[in-house]
Amino acid sequence: MSLDDATIAQAVGSAHAAHRDDPGGANASYIPYLASVDPSLFAVAVVTADGRVFSTGDDRFEFAIESISKVFTMALAMEQVGAAAFHAKIGADPTGLPFNSVMALDLNKDRPLSPLVNAGAIASTSLVTATGADDRWNRILSAQRDFAARELQLSDEVNDSEQTTNFHNRAMAWLLYGGDSIFCDPMEAVDVYTRQCSTLITTVDLATMGATLAAGGRNPITGTRVISSGNVPHILAEMTMEGMYTRSGDWAYTVGLPAKSGVGGGIVAVAPGELAIAAFSPPLDDAGNSVRAQAAVADVASELGLNLYAGS
Ligand code: GLN
Repeated sequence: MSLDDATIAQAVGSAHAAHRDDPGGANASYIPYLASVDPSLFAVAVVTADGRVFSTGDDRFEFAIESISKVFTMALAMEQVGAAAFHAKIGADPTGLPFNSVMALDLNKDRPLSPLVNAGAIASTSLVTATGADDRWNRILSAQRDFAARELQLSDEVNDSEQTTNFHNRAMAWLLYGGDSIFCDPMEAVDVYTRQCSTLITTVDLATMGATLAAGGRNPITGTRVISSGNVPHILAEMTMEGMYTRSGDWAYTVGLPAKSGVGGGIVAVAPGELAIAAFSPPLDDAGNSVRAQAAVADVASELGLNLYAGS
């Protein structure tokens, strides 16, 4: 199945129009920078596995990637160490708990359960093969750029805002250290994890990153293979189980696509072999997922008949 341009453009435009004034939610407040972003911003984008780009709304606005970065660091670490070793060290089970839960670590003898919540994400960052903090960061930024087909940059403002408030993540890194589940200096891992969350992306960048997964690991804009196709199903499975935090089950039940959200207000969903849908708007629900972005992505997925569990 290949969806035509008019159908995709219509789905993107009507999802944006339907939800641009949706009320509800609040910007993340525990990171001072995020609290200050204009809550009315809203964009929707689709990038197809054959490289077509559709977008509307505030699609040039750059926002913090936040938790969505976990997907691409997971991809990099898995590429470097192999899927089996990655799985053995980081796990692949949903926690059913908030993304920054310490209880999730307690449940598993201070070992992570999933690369897509903070504990497992910090462990994944530490697993990236690197010679030190800057090398680790440069490899992760380079992977993010390869997925996005653009020279993404770190926001010093976002990074400073998080580095000076991320005590909870630092505490989790020491718990991981106690559980033999951190693979570099724990504070280096949190430093680089915090930087990876502070990259600025547009909604089109996010859809391109997702489209690289939809295209089996080959970036459809540049034509470059970013990761092995064999690793993509592991990543998408993990997004299904944990990508929308404590609402991952509801999301699978209603939308039926692997997705990942971040507290910056971005969400990306991947329809394998077809396309990725991204949306951005800062106000979040109590699970940490953007209210308008969830609604818009769900509408586009439904309009285009992309629920994986529905077949074709
Ligand atoms: N940088 C944020 C944190 O570690 C990312 C969280 C998120 O987007 N859920 O708390």
